[in-house]
Amino acid sequence: MPPLPIRNPDVKYTQAFINNEYVNCVSGKTFPTINPTTKQKIADVQEGDKADVDKAVDAAKAAFKIGSAWRRMDASKRGALLMKLADLIDRDMGYIGSLETIDNGKPYKNACGDIGFAVDILRYYAGWADKITGKTIPINGDYFCYTRHEPVGICGQIVPWNYPFMLFILKLAPALASGCVSILKPAEQTPLTALYAGALIKEAGFPPGVVGIIPGYGPTAGAAITNHPDINKVSFTGSTEVGQLIQQASGMSNLKRTSLELGGKSPNIVFGDVDLDAAVAWSHAAVMENMGQCCVAGTRTFVHESIYDEFVKKSAAMASNRIVGDPFDEKTQNGPQIDDVQFEKILELIESGKKEGAKVECGGEKMGDKGYYIQPTVFSNVQDNMRIAKEEIFGPVQQILKFSDEDEVIERANNTQYGLGAAVFTNDINRALKFANSLQAGSVWINCNLAITPQAPFGGFKMSGIGREYSEYGLQEYLEVKNVVIKIPQKNS
Ligand code: NAP
Repeated sequence: MPPLPIRNPDVKYTQAFINNEYVNCVSGKTFPTINPTTKQKIADVQEGDKADVDKAVDAAKAAFKIGSAWRRMDASKRGALLMKLADLIDRDMGYIGSLETIDNGKPYKNACGDIGFAVDILRYYAGWADKITGKTIPINGDYFCYTRHEPVGICGQIVPWNYPFMLFILKLAPALASGCVSILKPAEQTPLTALYAGALIKEAGFPPGVVGIIPGYGPTAGAAITNHPDINKVSFTGSTEVGQLIQQASGMSNLKRTSLELGGKSPNIVFGDVDLDAAVAWSHAAVMENMGQCCVAGTRTFVHESIYDEFVKKSAAMASNRIVGDPFDEKTQNGPQIDDVQFEKILELIESGKKEGAKVECGGEKMGDKGYYIQPTVFSNVQDNMRIAKEEIFGPVQQILKFSDEDEVIERANNTQYGLGAAVFTNDINRALKFANSLQAGSVWINCNLAITPQAPFGGFKMSGIGREYSEYGLQEYLEVKNVVIKIPQKNS
């Protein structure tokens, strides 16, 4: 059970966090952060740009200097600090969850779920801090050779708005476990929980400069991070279009190491040999969770012709019964979409689906005028070439496509620029293995979906990204391998 919510949480921090202090941004400018449930302003937040990123980089350089407290800290102590931060977040879950709910619009119980998951991620990476080891290698000749896995240095980490606090921690935890220092930019729509985390980072005992948090806009603060000549690595989660800009800027500035978690249009394939109700429920959750604002949402539901009509009927019933409303009501399953831009984009794509001949089985409209609410929507008769089958909608909109043959559906599932996730529902083990091997995606789930945990890797094939997060693979993204060779003198030489 999540702790009791606070319906109107005080906003404690709206300034940038540099050198373990909250400070006004150099320009003196601010931007409003809006509650998507009411469309009302919650607070004005300091607007950082290049000058503030420069200040945070200076602080980070001092923190990462050879001989600094952070560089000399025992790895086990680093792990203990991460563990302490996890405990503090756990302590404040009710406040952070409430703040996330007003800033993002997601149901409070889901916000607390995200925060609990962030705690799990921190504890997982805390355990890694003193287990990062190199190898000894028997090279040719009279030498002793070993590798060191060293922190890559100053990291710039840019986060989107769909899981604001959880993704902030997902960036930070492996960076700090590896001994890096970090400058993070939260999304302009949802800066509040990341800014609050600054106070907990200080309370946990991290030295000044190890973490900087700069609220602001992508083209200014974000671009200042990706173009900065003294930032060694950038990790980004967001759209494929911005991901391309980031990789270009990283390359052109100083060849930053770059990891990108980008968009998706994940296939969710259902065969006729499964428990139909269970498959309908998994497929529904795969697209409706978080109001459909999930990069790996299973938005292309391919259903075998033998069960297609029944599957569509049950999916439409489930979506019609989904409870949409006040995010603080514990029964609520969907809150509003994040902002007017996403709201209009989703409605425009729904209209395109109608015009291109897909059938609206339920939903298809906005709800009320108070917040950015959209009805859970199910389309049937969807064809591969329709925009709703190709473009990322990032809203509560399910596309149900019909298939008849295994090889045909593999080809159709892979026929996309994306490759983030894929799910297959079947009770035939041979078929499951064939699909696991054939689908071009960073995660393949069999008879489940969105099973994402701290211990297993997550990331994209093709234009869904570069690199992996979570797990030991995610840690490697923050490490440089150094080879050391020592001549061994021979007695008679
Ligand atoms: P976005 O527009 O790409 O923004 C993501 C972050 O990048 C924000 O902090 C944004 O700043 C910043 N940004 C924008 N332009 C930038 C630039 N030129 N240089 C540096 N930073 C820049 O994405 P979004 O609209 O927030 O999120 C939706 C998209 O993210 C979807 O396509 C979704 O699939 C993807 N996503 C992927 C994953 C994953 O794990 N693969 C997870 C979540 C979301 P602002 O604050 O100004 O917007």
